[in-house]
Amino acid sequence: MTTGRARLRIAVVGAGPAGLYTADQLTFGSENDATVDLFERLPVPFGLLRYGVAPDHPTIKSSATTFQEILDRPAVKLYCNVEIGRDLTVGELRDWYDAVVYATGADTDRRLGIGGEDLPGSISATEFVKWYNAHPEAESCDLSRVRTAVVIGAGNVALDVARILLKRPESLHGTDIPTGVMNALETSAVTDVHLVARRGPEHAKFTTKELREFNELPGVDVLVDGRQVPEADPDGISAVTRRNLGVLRSWARLGATGAPRRLHFHFASRPTRVVGETTVRAVHLESTAQSLAADLVVRAIGYRSRPLPGVPYDESTGTIPHRDHRVQRNGSDSPGEYAVGWAKRGPSGTLGTNRGDAADTVEAIIADRLPSHIEIAGPAVDDVLAQRGICVLDKDSWAGIRKAEEELGAASGRERVKIARWDELVAAGRTPALSRYPDRSHVSISV
Ligand SMILES: Cc1cc2nc3c(=O)[nH]c(=O)nc-3n(C[C@H](O)[C@H](O)[C@H](O)COP(=O)(O)OP(=O)(O)OC[C@H]3O[C@@H](n4cnc5c(N)ncnc54)[C@H](O)[C@@H]3O)c2cc1C
Repeated sequence: MTTGRARLRIAVVGAGPAGLYTADQLTFGSENDATVDLFERLPVPFGLLRYGVAPDHPTIKSSATTFQEILDRPAVKLYCNVEIGRDLTVGELRDWYDAVVYATGADTDRRLGIGGEDLPGSISATEFVKWYNAHPEAESCDLSRVRTAVVIGAGNVALDVARILLKRPESLHGTDIPTGVMNALETSAVTDVHLVARRGPEHAKFTTKELREFNELPGVDVLVDGRQVPEADPDGISAVTRRNLGVLRSWARLGATGAPRRLHFHFASRPTRVVGETTVRAVHLESTAQSLAADLVVRAIGYRSRPLPGVPYDESTGTIPHRDHRVQRNGSDSPGEYAVGWAKRGPSGTLGTNRGDAADTVEAIIADRLPSHIEIAGPAVDDVLAQRGICVLDKDSWAGIRKAEEELGAASGRERVKIARWDELVAAGRTPALSRYPDRSHVSISV
């Protein structure tokens, strides 16, 4: 993106898939040769690829290789452990860069709005997913007293949660799942997971591939009440829904085989109350006017973005208001401000959806023929961050963290084990790789 003057300098807020694909489009080839500074609040990049996608989905996780190649480009600079809206303001970025792209994703949860939702033992999928993915802000999770879990939701995140709850830890040995999570799965008492969906199976948002993964879970029966699945395919359903109904019918025909663990599907079952005094005991369903016993309730009814200070936010959709990728302020395009990914579209679509979205956003940036005003920019970003005492983790730090995680993995015969604590990630990013963990007995991996 040469303008005949200086190269455009773009700030991208959020180093998740959407931010990385945007950096890719902006720095790829000779035509688009902007420089990109990527700001990330966490100590590490990759967003939900690292902290959302399930550890037993290695094919998707391998997108990290593509993202690493983007990060390795000289035109891309990485500022991890820097939260925009706290460490730097959006106003500062707008002053210092030719354009700012918000790619802040969605990392909080939607609520059910029913009684008992906040009882101990009732948690969101965002919390549970963060835990098994070693997110540095995750709370630990004890499954040793959980026999029955109810997962509320009808999308792939609900399936991920149900599958991890039912998996035996030995099948996760090849993943980077932290030791603390492995131990918790080792002592897990879970025998039954009830997946509760408000509407019928023809409305579920599962993808067939994720549904079929339960066929490969040893020691698990999948139980579907055949009366809840239409015998004939309703008109107008998508090919995915048709395939899903086929899978569900096959399970309904199969029935129980006496396996030690079970996944029960409940369709057209709206939860009306989480029941319990000091902790969760059951979930009450409207359809059957009965309660499902539960020691753990996980609501997986969708992710939601948080507002970014200084950026407009639409409460009703939980997204940044935009028109054709341009941020809207007071009903019109705000020059030099763009949004991409889940922060813009809401939490739907796969990783690949963000690639097309980033391409469209970059097309809008190019079409706007932004004037490059870097010559009049303020003090160097690095100086400001240093003055404010912010411990920036850059590309070298990220290399150090990856190395530390490999070292940790090697100690337990695994390729890599994720570091779960924020301070340990920072320490790993700041310390020369080989002397990082002289004595492994002191390395605590907490979840
Ligand atoms: C549980 C789960 C499982 C999934 N599994 C799959 C799968 O198997 N296959 C698939 O294709 N897709 C999957 N997805 C979808 C995929 O993860 C998303 O499409 C993708 O991550 C969205 O990218 P994003 O960059 O918009 O958001 P995110 O991945 O959320 O990235 C946003 C980044 O912005 C950072 N950020 C936020 N606020 C600030 C701030 N103020 N300052 C600086 N940085 C900030 C965040 O820390 C984060 O790193 C899954 C999603 C979830 C939730």
